[in-house]
Amino acid sequence: MTTTASEHNIDISIVGGGMVGAAIALALSQAGIRVALIEKQPPAEFNAGSAPDLRVSSINLASEAWLTRLGSWQALEQMRLCPYQRLQAFEQPHSIVSFNAVDIKRSHLGHIVENNLLQLALWQQFGANVQLFCPASVSALQQNADSATLLLDSGETLISKLVIAADGANSQLRQLAGIGTNGWQYRQACLVALVNTPYPQQDVTWQQFTPTGPKAFLPLPGNQGSIVWYDEATRVKQLAALSPAQLTQELVKAFPAQIGAVEVVNSSWFPLARMDANRYYAGRVALAGDAAHTINPLAGQGVNLGFADAKLLTELIIDARRHNNDIGSEQLLRSYQRKRKPANLLMMSAMDGFYQVFGNDITPLRKLRQLALSVAARSTMLKTLVARYAVGSE
Ligand SMILES: Cc1cc2nc3c(=O)[nH]c(=O)nc-3n(C[C@H](O)[C@H](O)[C@H](O)COP(=O)(O)OP(=O)(O)OC[C@H]3O[C@@H](n4cnc5c(N)ncnc54)[C@H](O)[C@@H]3O)c2cc1C
Repeated sequence: MTTTASEHNIDISIVGGGMVGAAIALALSQAGIRVALIEKQPPAEFNAGSAPDLRVSSINLASEAWLTRLGSWQALEQMRLCPYQRLQAFEQPHSIVSFNAVDIKRSHLGHIVENNLLQLALWQQFGANVQLFCPASVSALQQNADSATLLLDSGETLISKLVIAADGANSQLRQLAGIGTNGWQYRQACLVALVNTPYPQQDVTWQQFTPTGPKAFLPLPGNQGSIVWYDEATRVKQLAALSPAQLTQELVKAFPAQIGAVEVVNSSWFPLARMDANRYYAGRVALAGDAAHTINPLAGQGVNLGFADAKLLTELIIDARRHNNDIGSEQLLRSYQRKRKPANLLMMSAMDGFYQVFGNDITPLRKLRQLALSVAARSTMLKTLVARYAVGSE
């Protein structure tokens, strides 16, 4: 086949270079597979003096292990991240259930990282096998039995064996591939705020369950932290419109005393939606990360599920290439969907159960959650199981 200057034949095209798309590009490129990465905007450069990004994620040990193998975790450690050793859940501050890293013989349970920095740490590892198209976006997708073709807004054409859509919850590629979704918007939304705390760097992340929704604290490097305040969407929007000083007053009133005399630096709010793509592939287009599923962020699992998608999908592709098989075959994509869709659905349903039991004031449910928390507080075995689940190892 002859190619024009604006036509590129490449093994795999990935649309979306966020945390999940960038991890896929890196894993495939390190295995010698040539990828094109199409992204609307590059991650901002790291500036040690700048305030942390408002969008932070709790990264579990399973994701950390994979990102370490890719070499990006080491780059992130050179920038900014905060480990935590303890995870606490409670309704009343006097009856805290605590899960500790030492209970499962680990040095930590996870890290709180800034999304932008994790994305940057992945981008910094790209070598010659990653061809970046950024800033760029897609205007059309065409597929035939042997390849998938992307037309970019720039007029360039990318012809690949497989296109991976990692372009987030509102995935344009998912729509272009004709894949529908199931889901709903939760009645709660969440406010996220960066706060200065009166304490030195903390090693604990905690979550208080209240009838109007959870209130959570995530530690950040130094004396900073991130708070997540779930409530009715209208209340969250009102809070988000307040000045930092006004929001500080509301926060100190509503949060349990261990938050301390915090000061809000800045804040934003996010709607909460559950979304599950009807299928994870169509023809030679595969979905990964938030393009395939979004989950209530209650237990900080969203991008960890996305990394689990990315790890499996790249392993299947690398194995197919090693055996000279088609890297975009239906068999490969079916196997990916068969393994990841039930696992993601299980986690989404578990979070919905949590949301129902812990997020309202119906008497039987209030009793159920008090019982659950008091059983958890007394059972070492249960606490160990929960801690293992949280780190992503079992
Ligand atoms: C309040 C909140 C708290 C959360 N906390 C946690 C947590 O503690 N732990 C956790 O695991 N998860 C958490 N999550 C979920 C997590 O943020 C997402 O799962 C994660 O960002 C998904 O990553 P992604 O790479 O799949 O998608 P995205 O982060 O959405 O990245 C998509 C990328 O694609 C690019 N893009 C989009 N469209 C196009 C296009 N047409 N062309 C080119 N590029 C495009 C975008 O610019 C972006 O870079 C939280 C989410 C929220 C809302």
